[in-house]
Amino acid sequence: MSEDRNVRLSGGIEIPRLGLGVFRAGRGDETRRAVREAIRIGYRHIDTARIYGNEKEVGEAVRDSGVPRADLFITTKLWNEDQGYDPALRAFEASLARLALETIDLYLLHWPVPGRRLESWRALERLHADGRVRAIGVSNFMPHHLEELLGAARVAPAVNQIEVSPFLQQKEARALCAERGIVVEAYSPLTKGVRLGDPVVTAVAGEIRRSPAQVLLRWGLQRDMVVLPKSTRPERIAENAAIFDFEIPPAQMERLDALEEGLITGWDPRRQP
Ligand code: NDP
Repeated sequence: MSEDRNVRLSGGIEIPRLGLGVFRAGRGDETRRAVREAIRIGYRHIDTARIYGNEKEVGEAVRDSGVPRADLFITTKLWNEDQGYDPALRAFEASLARLALETIDLYLLHWPVPGRRLESWRALERLHADGRVRAIGVSNFMPHHLEELLGAARVAPAVNQIEVSPFLQQKEARALCAERGIVVEAYSPLTKGVRLGDPVVTAVAGEIRRSPAQVLLRWGLQRDMVVLPKSTRPERIAENAAIFDFEIPPAQMERLDALEEGLITGWDPRRQP
């Protein structure tokens, strides 16, 4: 079975449905090696951020990869202390300089910072209009943040990157995104590892002869998301990419859908005004 590895964003460009996350991948050689290895085995999408402290290493690995820049999709994010119109424009230039790339494929507001997020969005709209970035989006935006932004924006966000797994399904936010043509990117799709031993996940994995990590990632793909697993280990980087040649049958999908428990492994943006 083969399947589209890309999905089209509202602005028309395509994004690979599997991306390598590099949060806590380490500065220096660990990130460089992970990104180089991921690209070597076929990843075409890397998700970094200013606050991860490894944009420079991501850019180096991208340039060293030998893969044409146009075939790679690179995301970075505007950190909270840089929000606001002018600070956002300056922060973008600084990220671009660290990455040492000519353009960024996707630039995200990392967090819905109260009082500054709309101004920051105007800066992203300008960067988009000027052709500095191919697509713009948000992260950690819950329905109330999205409604506010959609009411004020000239360009709607192409993407909302939020924590999603069978244990935290974000149904309301996902439904609103689907209605408005916003692609959802699932971060921490492996629950940072804390539910890889869950009995339902391991049972489904046994039944379909795949690993628990592959089950969680494939669930995300079949629920129409882009998935962003992080690993710095070559064998896991490969395992997490082998998710396009099988399907989880409907009965097993239903058992995974029943795992909702509101599990947040990182930040909780729901209470952010
Ligand atoms: P993940 O859910 O991707 O889990 C990563 C953890 O799982 C690591 O400890 C990794 O260890 C381990 N792991 C990876 N693959 C496997 C495997 N096949 N089997 C067993 N264990 C495995 O967590 P993250 O929080 O890192 O999320 C992924 C990405 O999402 C981030 O790197 C970042 O790009 C993005 N993100 C965005 C956020 C935002 O606010 N926008 C917030 C959090 C994450 P090891 O490396 O040792 O293999």
